[in-house]
Amino acid sequence: MKTMWAPWRIDYILGEKEERCIFCLAMGERSELTLFKGHGSMVVMNKYPYINGHLLVAPTRHIASLEELSVKEMAVLLKTVEQSVAVVKKVMKPDGFNIGLNLGKVAGAGVEEHLHFHIVPRWFGDTNALAVFADVRVIPEHLEATYGNLKPHFDRLDPGLWE
Ligand SMILES: [Zn+2]
Repeated sequence: MKTMWAPWRIDYILGEKEERCIFCLAMGERSELTLFKGHGSMVVMNKYPYINGHLLVAPTRHIASLEELSVKEMAVLLKTVEQSVAVVKKVMKPDGFNIGLNLGKVAGAGVEEHLHFHIVPRWFGDTNALAVFADVRVIPEHLEATYGNLKPHFDRLDPGLWE
């Protein structure tokens, strides 16, 4: 087997080791899965979704716990959850949703340091009934296709909820 000289790989590998917060990155240079950047809240597609349409809603501030949220941040965050559910309902027509927080590793939190709500659309007959917050599944529709379907609707949301 030939060894390819690929200097960009080194930057990539070193970059990966930085382990910077994926939510903070999603507000800046790694926004390819970011659906919404508001003044106090953000919406990103889960890169490793439990099911197609699995979204993550987070405060823009890098905080780990509910207690650190101001009343205003909480209001903006929940309003964004509501708006995200409305978009997914319209575009993907699920039969229901699981919405929740995984706080702490023991509860299944993948990224502990930046608080985020999971929005998981559910359809009758989907196979994830009991495994929604504990398992990784194969997704039928490609992540990018779903992103493309949802993004125009998120682009119409008001980023200035904060005012
Ligand atoms: Zn962060």
